Amino acid sequence: MIRVQEGQAHILAQVTSVTPPEFIPIAQALGRVLADDLQAPFDVPPSDNSAVDGYALGSADIPAVGRATLHVIADLPAGSLFEGFVKAGQAVRIMTGAPMPAGTATVIPQELVERSGEAVSIPTVAKGANVRLRGEDVRAGAVVIQSGTGLRPQELGLIASLGLTQVLVRQKVRVAILSTGDEVAEPGQPRRPGQIYDSNRFSLRGLVDAAGGVAMDLGIVPDIRDELRTRLFDASCAAEIVLTSGGVSVGIYDLVKDVLLEIGGIDFWQVAMQPGRPLAVGRIGETLFFGLPGNPVASMLTFMLFVRPALWKLAGRREIFPPQFTAVATEPLRKKTGRREFKRGILASGPQGWEVRTTGPQGSGILTSMVAGNCLIIIEEDRGDVRPGETVLVEPFWF
Ligand code: AMP
Ligand code: MG
Repeated sequence: MIRVQEGQAHILAQVTSVTPPEFIPIAQALGRVLADDLQAPFDVPPSDNSAVDGYALGSADIPAVGRATLHVIADLPAGSLFEGFVKAGQAVRIMTGAPMPAGTATVIPQELVERSGEAVSIPTVAKGANVRLRGEDVRAGAVVIQSGTGLRPQELGLIASLGLTQVLVRQKVRVAILSTGDEVAEPGQPRRPGQIYDSNRFSLRGLVDAAGGVAMDLGIVPDIRDELRTRLFDASCAAEIVLTSGGVSVGIYDLVKDVLLEIGGIDFWQVAMQPGRPLAVGRIGETLFFGLPGNPVASMLTFMLFVRPALWKLAGRREIFPPQFTAVATEPLRKKTGRREFKRGILASGPQGWEVRTTGPQGSGILTSMVAGNCLIIIEEDRGDVRPGETVLVEPFWF
């Protein structure tokens, strides 16, 4: 038996390369991984500008007490520049975002003034109030997004605000997915007695896509040695990672093993975890191979624990594990010491802060537990039963 964290370390040690970089349009870059530090080519904002709609004036014209009256000499919409100089006793009506006219350093919000004709009466405000300063968001030359960052909507906006149209990202990792076993039927096709519909391929495709990879669906392979050898070899030529589900514990166990030994290498691990104990990890040439368990929850969980960190490392991400938090268990949790257990949980805020309960029955074939849940509850190896009120680790689903 190996521990979950040993298994992860062993797999990550085998990932020594990163996919090549490519330039793509920002509009297609959601979820991609930045391949180089991104530096700002100029200050953002590029000049001092007004934070409100109001009146811009020189600081010397701010009355110490009471009100002062100024002469309005121009109207300045956002996107235009005031060419002149604002002298003592003068003000410019200014819109949010418009650059501050020369001679001004303060803006009085329009709600605070009284306007009559070309005269405006203003109250006292702090010097420099309501002005956004040049470079206050980003300084020219500063690294605004670090290499290895997964691009979210806010990063795409930031990149566009720098005037760029293309961004250098890592190529997507290609992941080939096959289901194994004569008992597995294709959805949409008739199902013979004793057969079940293939769900794993579809959950795994979703997991690969959600993790920013390219899922290549290679269908179902029957338990026939030559067919398995050809299909696995072909898959390894087309992808950086090959996944199978099923056949690791029993059934075609020996087939997968024999075939992998012929065309690559393979280890079978008993991982001290629940669910999803048996796991095959190997290589076909440069391609990583994972034989995931057949049970639907176990295959998703082993993907999350072992495949996704490898995929993220290959894709050049800096963070290869999703964030974990703590929450208060609101129900008793059965737990065997000596293994790491993963329960599907429902995380919500309650009287004790973040609280978590299970989704109900936790069998590794109960896929509805993943559907009802929004997180994993993680109970470490050395812990036993958890009583209500105790704190546990939770990992919100990333997908
Ligand atoms: P195995 O790992 O092949 O022993 O399979 C363990 C359990 O997972 C069995 O109940 C299988 O029927 C089920 N299973 C295997 N492959 C799939 C699949 N692709 N989709 C859904 N269930 C599967
Ligand atoms: Mg099987």
